[in-house]
Amino acid sequence: MLSRKILSLGLGLAMPLFLSSCGGNSQATSVQVDPEEQEINQKVEKTLAKLSLEEKVGQMTQITMDAISKGESVYVSDEPLKLDKKRVLEAIQKYKVGSFLNTANNRARSPEVWNEIIAELQEEAMKEVGIPIIYGIDAIHGTSYTAGATFFPQPIGMGASWNKDLARQMAEVTAYETRASGIPWNFSPVLDLGRDGRWSRMWETFGEDVYLVSEMGKETIKGYQGEDNDVSKKGRVAASLKHYLGYSSYSGKDRTPAYIPERQLLELYVPSFKAAIDQGAYTVMVNSGLINGIPVHANKKLITGLLKNELGFEGLVVTDWADIENLHNRDKIAASQKEAVKMSVNAGIDMAMVPYNFNFTTNLIELVNEGEVSMSRIDDAVRRILKVKYALGLFEAPTTAIADYKEFGSEKAEALALATAEESITLLKNTKNTLPLSKEAKVLITGPNANSMRTLNGGWSYSWQGEKVPEFAEGYNTILEAIQEKVGKNKVTYVPGVEYKMDGKYDEEQNVDIQAAVRAAKEVDYILLCLGENSYCETPGNLVDMDISVNQQALAQALAATGKPIILVLNEGRPRLISAFEAKMNAVLQTYLPGNFGGDALANILYGEVSPSGKLPYTYPKYPNSLLTYDHQPSENQEKMEGVYDYDASFEIQYPFGHGLSYTTFEYSDLKVNKSEFNAEDQLEVSVKVSNTGARSGKEVVQLYSSDLYASISPSVKRLRRFDKIEVAAGESTVVTFSLSAKDLAFVGMNNEWIAEEGDFVLRIGDQETQIHLNETKVFDNFPSLNL
Ligand code: BGC
Repeated sequence: MLSRKILSLGLGLAMPLFLSSCGGNSQATSVQVDPEEQEINQKVEKTLAKLSLEEKVGQMTQITMDAISKGESVYVSDEPLKLDKKRVLEAIQKYKVGSFLNTANNRARSPEVWNEIIAELQEEAMKEVGIPIIYGIDAIHGTSYTAGATFFPQPIGMGASWNKDLARQMAEVTAYETRASGIPWNFSPVLDLGRDGRWSRMWETFGEDVYLVSEMGKETIKGYQGEDNDVSKKGRVAASLKHYLGYSSYSGKDRTPAYIPERQLLELYVPSFKAAIDQGAYTVMVNSGLINGIPVHANKKLITGLLKNELGFEGLVVTDWADIENLHNRDKIAASQKEAVKMSVNAGIDMAMVPYNFNFTTNLIELVNEGEVSMSRIDDAVRRILKVKYALGLFEAPTTAIADYKEFGSEKAEALALATAEESITLLKNTKNTLPLSKEAKVLITGPNANSMRTLNGGWSYSWQGEKVPEFAEGYNTILEAIQEKVGKNKVTYVPGVEYKMDGKYDEEQNVDIQAAVRAAKEVDYILLCLGENSYCETPGNLVDMDISVNQQALAQALAATGKPIILVLNEGRPRLISAFEAKMNAVLQTYLPGNFGGDALANILYGEVSPSGKLPYTYPKYPNSLLTYDHQPSENQEKMEGVYDYDASFEIQYPFGHGLSYTTFEYSDLKVNKSEFNAEDQLEVSVKVSNTGARSGKEVVQLYSSDLYASISPSVKRLRRFDKIEVAAGESTVVTFSLSAKDLAFVGMNNEWIAEEGDFVLRIGDQETQIHLNETKVFDNFPSLNL
């Protein structure tokens, strides 16, 4: 296993500490190497010494399943799925390929089929090369490509739960069910920040805040790899942190260039990766996009300099899909495919997700023979790959059998998925306690998201775009079905009003009949209006208009005109604008993409069996030209200019980051800090009393924010520093205490170093605040300039 002792020393050391075997960078260190790790290192060296150049380069190659299965081309596979012996031999015998990914025909498979396919590949690989292959998959909210697996809320919902235990447990189940399928490598968690509500991958993130993302990411790694990072144990997988680094476009469109100042890159985008690396994550996937004009796949400063040297990452770095080819085809920085391979491998890439051909291997072998890529670079890459394969125990046990995984898709796992969905759903508005509803009330359920398992799950669900969800998720309840089950069919009228076109693009709609919904509304007590988006993933989910669709707006307006109370249920991957009609809604619930148990979870909340406890993990915008994150700088929201040129130009947002209501009420009091003046090394203890003043028990996310009042770089208006989700019984109080030090209040300053400056800070929890004073200025871990 990768040694946490060593990894945790990574940040801030001017000189990286590497294990003696690592990448030609061997340096004498006084750090004790874990005996298990030493054993793995010895095995790696022994294996490496036996490999030819062709075998080494093969280890660095990853091919997708369609390219090795029977079918008319490498893009299309026959059904039922069968591996094509000739293609498998070409990959493994001729090109010595050491890794495969993805499913075929973009379709989930049964665990038995997965077991069989992986066993076939392992048999071939052990026979031909003597090294097991490593298979990777995107299991981002459960084991997405295995039929019968447990599906949780997508990461944006996990972020909204603000519940670290649930994040860890969700990852434990996912790891178990993924390994049960024979797959030991998960391309998850996404540690990008969801700071642009237009982005089609917003829902794959834990939200907009770096601290929230880092905390949830760390717990997810613990769940996938175990706290001890011993991934040879049953039911564990190696995690892949993605997409390193700064992947969240500034145009709102997927895979477009980002412009991120070095200071901001270090302060906002690095910490989630650093936290996960310190936790012991085994692999990293690179960002498909560009930062400041340079594709990250060709950026040696980011991959070798920052990631491997500064952050001390010892695991394997894999490209994203076809991204070496993209250096030539898309980004035009490499004049040929061969040059693209040279750039990327020399930048520090260890494995290429090619995924359809063997050009990478041919080109790389030539480049090494021509002296354009050094053998030591190749050895570094292969060491890292072998280390992960040994850590996973693949040499001893290259396959798994579903029969040994009795808990696959168990009731216990499903109960956890339900609890997770319940904790993610966020009550954004509840005028005059519209909710919870009485089971006696008659409801109209309407809107395109009312009766769809596909919209509850989103992308990476049985298929990439989520369009195959209906085939696999029939047994679970849509919103409509869950409510019918709870209150009886006689209390429910269903008229969609607007439907998604299920065989079209994600944003196409059909069968618009708003008047039918209006007519039905006359007969009921409440309208449950289920709006949002159909499923999508990555670039096909790009957006031209942030407003919720024209048809859905018309449906909302027409229903509002009936005068019946409306509960708006949002089911969407990103915050589509609702400001045109939000004021007319009596209650608003955000379900995000809650997974297979989202309908049941929502029903439990609507009828009061569960009190909502989710909190928004992003700022919900109100207007398309008012996009801003909660941690903006003061000048981003200039509310007033005093004097002659008086104006009021403040941003208006729909709902703030961290917002979420409950069926009970919480009051905060007695915010205390043990020191009002402190030095850089002091530990602050910040405590607050949280009282449940309502009539029922409830969960609350206690959020500690700080504001640096004056700083040499214009400070964020506030920053989340700590949070905890607690349960308080009706009428009870509890004291929550957080520890904090100057380091937690630091920012990346003018010289690209972490600095906490002498001066005043305000700490806030709920409506309580207090001022503290840091007596000295202190510079922390020194990052050399990256000169991007
Ligand atoms: C995505 C990655 C994913 C990979 C493999 C890419 O298109 O950007 O997030 O892990 O495909 O499926």
